[in-house]
Amino acid sequence: MSDCLPLTSHFIDGQFLPAHSGRTFDKRSPLDNHLMGRVAEGGREDVDAAVNAARRALHGPWGRMTVDQRVAMLHAVADGITKRFDEFVAAEEADTGQPRHVISHAFVPRGAANFKIFADLIKNVPAESFQMDTPDGAGALNYAIRKPKGVIGVISPWNAPFLLMTWKVGPAMACGNTVVVKPSEETPATATLLGEVMNAVGVPPGVYNVVHGHGPDAAGEFLTRHDGVDGITFTGETRTGTAIMKAAAEGIRDVSFELGGKNAGIVFADCRFDDAVEGIFRSAFMNTGQVCLGTERVYVERPIFDRFVAALKARCEAVRYGRPGDAGANYGPLISHEHQAKVLSYYAKAVAEGATVVTGGGVPAMPRDLAEGAWVQPTIWTGLPETAAVVREEIFGPCCHIRPFDSEEVVVALANANRYGLSTTIWTENLRRAHRMAAAVEVGITWVNSWFLRDLRTPFGGSKQSGIGREGGAHSLEFYTELRNVCIKL
Ligand code: NAD
Repeated sequence: MSDCLPLTSHFIDGQFLPAHSGRTFDKRSPLDNHLMGRVAEGGREDVDAAVNAARRALHGPWGRMTVDQRVAMLHAVADGITKRFDEFVAAEEADTGQPRHVISHAFVPRGAANFKIFADLIKNVPAESFQMDTPDGAGALNYAIRKPKGVIGVISPWNAPFLLMTWKVGPAMACGNTVVVKPSEETPATATLLGEVMNAVGVPPGVYNVVHGHGPDAAGEFLTRHDGVDGITFTGETRTGTAIMKAAAEGIRDVSFELGGKNAGIVFADCRFDDAVEGIFRSAFMNTGQVCLGTERVYVERPIFDRFVAALKARCEAVRYGRPGDAGANYGPLISHEHQAKVLSYYAKAVAEGATVVTGGGVPAMPRDLAEGAWVQPTIWTGLPETAAVVREEIFGPCCHIRPFDSEEVVVALANANRYGLSTTIWTENLRRAHRMAAAVEVGITWVNSWFLRDLRTPFGGSKQSGIGREGGAHSLEFYTELRNVCIKL
């Protein structure tokens, strides 16, 4: 390379490598657009090398480990992350520009937990067995054994990169698989850093591999089309999921998909008002609205509608923009200028479709050193019909539309009238209503008087176009293992 900028390398077979082609792409800071470094641009050769290394590792020392040894190794990985906690936080801050407290309280600790929880789970997996009668009266014993699925392709997004990648790598490795990760091109740093931890704690080469690069006709697509890949777990946009599913169909490769959302927040008049305002504020604006589980459609029962809108507006107008470590800063930029342009196009569409802009709607005035960053204001709209683009389509930005409602039946119908079905957050003190609503909304996860709270042993995934399959706890075994039946005539 002709400059001295740092290179984020692939991690293949235990080695940090540049791209086979020597090609790189630029990584810029979302905070101020400065050029942070170059990233290896993966091509077919890199994906090949990573998949081949992963296949070899399946049958090497990793494949021969006892469950206890594997469990100990996953605990060592978690401890290794914790030991280098500050480096993971700094790498994620630099890639995403998000506030330090979100990354250090939610995202990086969950990365370490993702290894521990699945290590502990795998030790206690029960086996299924049936004793049957045979026609000759001798009988037979059937039992099922779980084997690793093989080489898992992990394709992850940029919005909570370390958490979302390890959420897949943790269970995949716990079940004895090997992985090839293609992190988002926007957030390459923590995946490569994790390679250092893997080497430091003695994970055999080839078990965990990382190939950086782009999606279509690039590293992402090459991975999903590779014959040596046995299953693909993907988190990202529904449209990308469609492309990956087509690619996976070629080799009858299994898929597990966590896709987009256009989630409803439902606030009843009997809620604890301040808690509901804070809860909806977090769900709509945390991580600058770049959370798949975030709320972009808010329905508020009419008696408290005006008060609620005013309170949420005040909360939005109190955000403090800044760099991750700045004192008091609690609101970061979007991931990139490309995403900023997309979000701002929706801000313009909302106005064109007749929205009342309660707050925001544009780019905040920033000090000179941050003026080139991908900043947008938190934005609230009212007054749009459900057919408006900003009410129907996932924007993945810090914005929501708020609409009043008058009855439970109507709000259930409104919440369900969308192609996505990821999550809902419901705010009410009426327990019976909470249970009724939770059963009626067509989503994979419902929160009552809370949001983003989750026991990692529970099933996670989306309904409708928000996903295929469930991961989390024992549910992850469905995707990451092959269940084989053995029948022994007695
Ligand atoms: P994206 O779909 O654009 O990209 C995700 C990953 O897929 C990236 O690594 C990208 O390089 C890769 N990719 C893109 N095209 C590909 C192709 N044709 N073949 C193979 N790989 C390809 O998503 P994003 O913009 O990074 O993330 C935001 C999206 O992710 C939102 O829609 C959000 O709702 C969703 N998301 C969902 C969940 C969930 O759990 N359901 C969690 C986080 C994010």
